[in-house]
Amino acid sequence: MPTHLIESLDSQPCQKCQGGRKHLQTVTLMTWLGDDLITVPDFPAWICDLCGHRLYDSEALAQLSLLLNPDAGTPIHPRVQHLPKKPPANINPPA
Ligand SMILES: [Zn+2]
Repeated sequence: MPTHLIESLDSQPCQKCQGGRKHLQTVTLMTWLGDDLITVPDFPAWICDLCGHRLYDSEALAQLSLLLNPDAGTPIHPRVQHLPKKPPANINPPA
């Protein structure tokens, strides 16, 4: 592995303030999953040491979305399903 790339792996120039550098840190990610607010501890994020701009690691975000989506990775089979019809509602309950 080329060693000259190591520095750029844990710090990046900040695109927000153009002056700071972003460092890879772990934060607690909070996100909505449907109606539920979930928190993900120790989530990798790039944080600017000057303006504090936060950018979540894109690879980790992609993995997280896979984890949170129960359908992810599931092969889709076209399935013919005969839904049971609702029973007739005109049956009177015994008095
Ligand atoms: Zn910045």
